[in-house]
Amino acid sequence: MYNTIKKYADDHHVTLVAVSKTKPNEEILRLYNEGQRIFGENKVQELVEKYEPLPKDIQWHLIGHLQKNKVKYIAAFVSMIHSVDSQPLLKTIDKEAAKHHRIIPVLLQFHIATEDTKFGLDLPEAHEILDDLKKNPLPNVQIWGVMGMATFTNDVRVIKKEFKSLKAIFDTIKEQHGSALPYFKEISMGMSGDYGIAIDEGSTMIRIGSAIFGER
Ligand SMILES: *Cc1c(COP(=O)(O)O)cnc(C)c1O
Repeated sequence: MYNTIKKYADDHHVTLVAVSKTKPNEEILRLYNEGQRIFGENKVQELVEKYEPLPKDIQWHLIGHLQKNKVKYIAAFVSMIHSVDSQPLLKTIDKEAAKHHRIIPVLLQFHIATEDTKFGLDLPEAHEILDDLKKNPLPNVQIWGVMGMATFTNDVRVIKKEFKSLKAIFDTIKEQHGSALPYFKEISMGMSGDYGIAIDEGSTMIRIGSAIFGER
């Protein structure tokens, strides 16, 4: 399944993040040996445990909810954080990145699903963060784009509508804050069940777990 999805992503110029949460290092290495370098984890502790033994040219993306007090454990090595959902978190990432003389690329996570269990900003909150950033720059973070998760449903219309809303949020931010955000180009949306729809709706980055590694 990996090769099919990888080819589909490449053909559509979309970055594939292989979501390896709960999967053992041997399975990650198997994919690594097929050429995959970008892996996603949703828990800090699991990410740290995998980072140490696995090859150092893996680019680790943190895709799950991140608490401020845990940023310090990943700031030295994480390649991208998809789940920035508050200004205090963004400031903490900046501070911890600076300690390691790093600049960490991040995505702003938006709440696009109807389920209220999912984390994320709404557009007014994002405007507030981005307006503040113009006055108080955070030199050790770069905002590369947006991330969102659709409702877990088989209703394609619902999923489509939610992905369209994330694309619209991306376009609005690009238009209103683009000059202050030189790296702003990524739309991280699409998982095993909905990546085809996500790509149709403008995704640039898909996060695929079970379709590659099997059910968890
Ligand atoms: C687990 C997870 C995924 C991947 O989910 P699959 O349905 O297994 O592809 C993507 N994004 C986030 C934030 C996740 O936690």
